[in-house]
Amino acid sequence: QARARLPAPQVQTRKSHSASAKPILQLTGLSKAFNGKTVLRDINLSVQPGEVISIIGPSGSGKTTLIRMVNGLETMDQGSVELLGQEFIRAGQRENALPYRAQITRLGMVFQGFNLFPHKTVLENLMLAPRLHNLDSREDLHQRSLAMLDKVGMLEHATKYPHQLSGGQQQRVAIARTLVMKPAVVLFDEPTSALDPERVSEVLQVIEKLAEEGITMLIVTHEMKFAFAISDRVVFMEQGRIEIDASPAEIRQMRDHRIFRFIDDMAT
Ligand code: ADP
Repeated sequence: QARARLPAPQVQTRKSHSASAKPILQLTGLSKAFNGKTVLRDINLSVQPGEVISIIGPSGSGKTTLIRMVNGLETMDQGSVELLGQEFIRAGQRENALPYRAQITRLGMVFQGFNLFPHKTVLENLMLAPRLHNLDSREDLHQRSLAMLDKVGMLEHATKYPHQLSGGQQQRVAIARTLVMKPAVVLFDEPTSALDPERVSEVLQVIEKLAEEGITMLIVTHEMKFAFAISDRVVFMEQGRIEIDASPAEIRQMRDHRIFRFIDDMAT
């Protein structure tokens, strides 16, 4: 009798999640036209927790529009985005809709142009948004901000203002500022394209470190070597469509002429 009440062993009752883990971010049927010109066509993309996905493709293929749409900076004509298994944003939804407001702090964004507040110090830049959203006690937040500056190698610059820093340093601060919010996913829109060439690698190294730590990231980039080295999947876009969505190894095997022509063009 006692034995009959024992719970069944977990291995028999629990399904394996490895093959069908729940996506942390799900884009479904996203489409967009500007002034009658279609720039995104039926984009579907599923991002698993911990995945690093690079979005590459020719200029004008819709990469930036797509990533801005995911965090509500651009409206969509059709489709929807789910974040952490919940509705986040959908076509026709108002910007102040409840699901969006409830979840927007879980989505980090790093821009081409850093977008730091010029009249705030580095440390103030990190603490501003979390304070607004009342995420933590001031002391916890202060400690976490310093830890994030340390992570990106900017701790010694905590009291400086953005104009006292190089572009690469400003971008590292912008990355730390995003991480302080403890985002579930971080979106990067060409994070190194506004930098002097000699400043690119310091930012890529920080992103690589985050990839190793298992932070989920969606990265629009023109840095091909970097994209193929750190990504779990590379998404190749052309004329508003996802043409290829595969691992770097699979893409090398495929030898698809479109992607190879594109990478050749980038290299010359
Ligand atoms: P990518 O990031 O791949 O270079 P974009 O997403 O920036 O591509 O642009 C895709 C297309 O959408 C381009 O043809 C661009 O000119 C157009 N586009 C982007 N934003 C706007 C806008 N606000 N108004 C009109 N057209 C736009």
